[in-house]
Order: sequence, then structure tokens, then C-alpha cells
Amino acid sequence: MRRQVEIFISGAGVAGLTLAILLADKGIKVGIADPVKALPLAKTPHGTRTAAIQNRFLPLLRQTGALDEIEDISAPLQAIRIIDPEGQNFREKLEAVFDAQEITNEKLSLNIPIQPLRAALYEAALNNALIDFFDETKTQNITFGESANIVTLEDGSEIAASMCVSADGVNSVFRKSANIGIKTKNYNQTAMTCILSHTKSHQNMSTEFHYPGGPFTLVPLPGDKSSLVWLERTKFAETYLSYNRTDFEKLLQEKSHGILGQLKLESSVDSLPLRSFTAKELTANRLILLAESAHCLSPIGAQGLNMSLKDIEVFLQILEKNLYLGQNIGCMAMLASYGHERIHDTKLRAGAVHGLNQIVSNSLPVSKAARRFGLNILKSTPRLKQKIMNIGMSSD
Ligand SMILES: Cc1cc2nc3c(=O)[nH]c(=O)nc-3n(C[C@H](O)[C@H](O)[C@H](O)COP(=O)(O)OP(=O)(O)OC[C@H]3O[C@@H](n4cnc5c(N)ncnc54)[C@H](O)[C@@H]3O)c2cc1C
Repeated sequence: MRRQVEIFISGAGVAGLTLAILLADKGIKVGIADPVKALPLAKTPHGTRTAAIQNRFLPLLRQTGALDEIEDISAPLQAIRIIDPEGQNFREKLEAVFDAQEITNEKLSLNIPIQPLRAALYEAALNNALIDFFDETKTQNITFGESANIVTLEDGSEIAASMCVSADGVNSVFRKSANIGIKTKNYNQTAMTCILSHTKSHQNMSTEFHYPGGPFTLVPLPGDKSSLVWLERTKFAETYLSYNRTDFEKLLQEKSHGILGQLKLESSVDSLPLRSFTAKELTANRLILLAESAHCLSPIGAQGLNMSLKDIEVFLQILEKNLYLGQNIGCMAMLASYGHERIHDTKLRAGAVHGLNQIVSNSLPVSKAARRFGLNILKSTPRLKQKIMNIGMSSD
């Protein structure tokens, strides 16, 4: 028998689950499928990847009930320190500090481990009677219809939905089924991630060293621990990843210039090749794209998941407004508003992140000069720095 839901979500990652819970909160019947089942939160490993979520999106996450469960393993970011260490010696480094206190009493963001966040969201969604879980099976196809779309899962079952949401990540099946192309940028960079402990306090400040291969960023976690996101040209990253633990730790020590004292690896080192693209369109018949099925960016600037939360926030507002006006879920007006509101911001932020990546991850003398010039200007122009912080924190 064909199951019926009002909104079907492909992909139970952080974005898909957040949306599912918030839709169910509005009384909407949701279906969600994902081939990868989450472990219970208590059994979920910390993992090496974290995401700095801007303050303004925390209420949205808190509404899901998941944030309360993992706040004790997350850490506030009060300031960001950017260092260009490329002088003759480290004393000639250029440094700019963006401190939240210069513009607000609040923190900049909260650094949250991704795997536990997904597990906490999963638990919250499992307990919700309005969410139908299609566990350990993939979305395989979508047939577009006038009053509903029919989704076919890998196990052969079918679901009829008034509208569908693509939250199934970079290789989105829904995006491909709708023939929506992507605009790609190739960086030839690899992201290396791990968890470190250190002998000096991070003082809730994230430290970003700008090297020619990409930034080396230490992001605070509770206690004297930080998560590392290190972008490096792939051929060098491959060499570094072949090092044994002791040699890798030595390399990290060198790259961090001892800014957090003695570093110690507290996890494995994970890596993933960087991808960057934006979808050319964000809607099709009774379908919207959001999160990494719509945009996948370099981790520079920590925009990825924040943009996904913005997608969710905008969609929920549009849905509410349209339902209030008596429109049907998935109607043209709803899709058009979402596409209109999100495409511009998505392209703008993707362009900005790409530009930043080009300037930061580059050994060309002109980029080096631009980097140092930029940092000098920021150091000497507090109002410009405050303006940039306001833009970074607002996401509007
Ligand atoms: C090193 C690194 C650091 C980052 N740091 C930050 C940061 O500081 N701040 C920030 O905002 N962002 C950051 N990001 C980005 C952020 O981590 C991602 O945007 C986010 O985790 C992606 O979540 P998602 O739900 O969109 O995608 P995913 O987590 O990829 O979820 C997609 C889900 O879809 C499922 N799926 C796939 N195919 C199918 C199918 N056919 N049917 C059903 N389900 C399917 C998958 O199993 C998966 O569970 C960072 C990214 C990286 C790589």
C-alpha cells in the first residue's frame, strides 16, 4: 500500500532532521528516509567534525530539543583570531582579532560536534508521532505529479507527498531526478580534521593560521580541547596523512607555533576532498532543495550548516504564511517564494566564500600581499572590522 505524507524529506542528516522536527511541531505529517541509521546519542562517538553555528540560529536548533542534549560537549566562540605567520620569523606575524564583545554581549557562535548533533536530532525525531521514518533505505526516484509527487524507495515502497524536500547531501538523488545542474568550483584541497588537547587555554577564541595551502584553524571545545580544520593542497595532505601519530603531532605543533602550548592528538585524523558547488535552481515541481543538496562550500568562513539553517528558517516562514493564506502545501507560490528568497543569498555567500578561499589558500605574491594588506587594514580600522563581524553574525 502506498503511504501518504504531507512533506517527504530525502536525507536524515542534520538539515533533514531539523526540518522534520520543526515541521512536525507545526502539525505537519512528515516522511523521512536515510540509508544510514544513527546510533543512540549515548553510544555515538564524538567524531572529528564540528560546526560553528552562529548565535542567531541556535534558537532554531534549540526548538528541536536536540541542542539541550549536546550543549555540554559544545563550546562558545567569543572571538576569532586570524594570523598570517608568513614573515621572516613568527614574531613578524600579522594578527587580527575579531572579538564579539566589540559589537554585542553575546558569543559569536557555538562549536557543536556534528555526529552527536545528528544523533540527538534522530532521537528527537524518532519520538515524534508525526514523523514517519524510512530507516536504512535510500530514496531512489521521484515521479512528479500535479497534486502530489510519488517517491520510490530502494526497498520498493512508494510514498505520496504533497511536496518533497531534498536534504540528501552532495549527491542528491532528488536534485538529479529533477535535472537540476550544479555550478562547481575545484580547489584541489583536502580538509583534515581531528580533536586536540592543549596545555594552554583557548580562551574561547578560534585561531586561524593562513598558510598558502589553506587555513589551519583551531576551534574551541569544552576544557582545554579544540577541533582542528586544516585545509591543505591535496598532494601535501596525502603526504601528511601518511605520517605516524608522533610525526603528525610534531607537524601540528609546528603549524600552530605553540600558540595553545603543547598539542596532543585525542582522535583519529579524518580527511575529505573539498567540494564546492551551488545548484542552478532550488525548486522543481513540488520540490525544494536545501542544505548540501543545494550548496556545498569550502569550510572557510564556517558558512555551510549556517546557510542550511537559514534555508530551513526561510522555508518554515514561507510555509506558515502560505498556509495562513489558505494555499496548499507545495503550491507554486510557495516554491517560487522559496526559490526567490534563497537563490540570491546562496550565490552571494558561495561567491564570497570562493573569493576568500582564493585569497587565503594561495602562494601567489599578489594573494599574499592582498592577505597581509587586508589584515593590516582590519587591524587599523576597527569600524570596518565591526561591520564585517555584523555581516558574519547576521546571515541576513
Ligand atoms: C571540515 C568541515 C568543517 C565544517 N565546519 C562548519 C562550520 O564551522 N560551520 C558550518 O555552518 N558548517 C560547517 N561545515 C559544513 C557542515 O558540516 C555541513 O554543511 C553539514 O554537516 C551538512 O549537513 P547536511 O544535512 O546538509 O548533509 P549531510 O550530513 O551530508 O546529510 C545528508 C544525508 O542524506 C543521506 N542520503 C544520501 N543519499 C540519500 C538517498 N538517496 N536517500 C536518502 N538519504 C540519503 C545521507 O546518508 C546523509 O545522512 C563544515 C564542513 C566540513 C567538511
